[in-house]
Amino acid sequence: MFKRARIKLSLWYLLIIMIVSIFFSGTIYMAISVAVDRGFEDILNEIRLEFTDDDEPNFLKNRSFLKENIGETKSELLHRLFFINGSIFIISALASYFLAGRTLRPIEEMMEEQKRFIADASHEFRTPLTALKSSAEVALMDKELDLEESKNIIKSSLNDIDRLKRLSDNLLSLARYQESGPNLSLEELNIADIIKEASSNILSLAEEKNISIKIKKQNIAIMGDRQRLIDLMVILLDNAIKYTPSGGRITITAKPNDGRAMLEIKDSGIGIEGKDLPHIFNRFYRADRSRSKTGASGFGLGLSLARKIAEDHKGMISVSSEPGAGTVFTVALPKK
Ligand code: ADP
Repeated sequence: MFKRARIKLSLWYLLIIMIVSIFFSGTIYMAISVAVDRGFEDILNEIRLEFTDDDEPNFLKNRSFLKENIGETKSELLHRLFFINGSIFIISALASYFLAGRTLRPIEEMMEEQKRFIADASHEFRTPLTALKSSAEVALMDKELDLEESKNIIKSSLNDIDRLKRLSDNLLSLARYQESGPNLSLEELNIADIIKEASSNILSLAEEKNISIKIKKQNIAIMGDRQRLIDLMVILLDNAIKYTPSGGRITITAKPNDGRAMLEIKDSGIGIEGKDLPHIFNRFYRADRSRSKTGASGFGLGLSLARKIAEDHKGMISVSSEPGAGTVFTVALPKK
């Protein structure tokens, strides 16, 4: 599909270049012809004075010689212009094909990413849907199903429905962030307030797992979108809780460094293996270890959203981790 689009676009580029080139060549040819014809007339008028009436044959001979010369000059000019346009055609065809490729590459990449995303999202939807379908079919076929068993099946179906709902909510917020682009409602914020609000959102989750949260914060002014930065913090804190066993610790630190506000979220959880680290910010990526060890639910969308929010704020997010010991996520945001 992109090959055809590339050829089509190249032809359009080539057509435009050739129209311009032929137009200029025509203009140059006409201008030079008019100038040469005018010069010819002037020369004729001048040499006419040098010939007496008796010398008419000589004058005519000179005139036809001059005319022939001018004709030759013009046809040589025409040949050169043809040659120049031919060269322009070949060079432009190659350049157009190259440029069309460069123009279409970001679109091609975007479409590839979209295709991958749709495939991944469908896969995530299919798992709970298949489970729902098969448990309903089994229940229908079982003639001796009692009330207790029916309730259990309904309970497990509700779990799958909850999972589907969470997935669609996650996808919707991802789409919302991507659709609005870096359209931030910027205001002056104190990083300490963002930490306070985000940590109060996840406090009950931490208490449920008996995880302690220690905050070492400083007042640092930044320009940012309040809600999005809270979302970013909540994603990181939520993960820290999810992937830290009961009784663990989370430390949140905020400090200035080299014109930036550095926000650090450190946990004493299961950690991330080296082979997973380069991929965890990709959409739908989940390390096997976190699935099997913690059984924590998730879709692998949180960190890609977190990175998008950080980048929209001209900041960046990085991670370092030691399996079995814990993980540190660092967000660097420009100071006001
Ligand atoms: P989710 O948590 O929904 O799976 P995320 O995009 O938030 O998706 O995270 C991607 C993956 O990165 C997780 O599946 C997990 O393997 C790993 N991860 C993220 N945060 C942590 C953490 N604090 N400790 C250990 N692993 C983590």
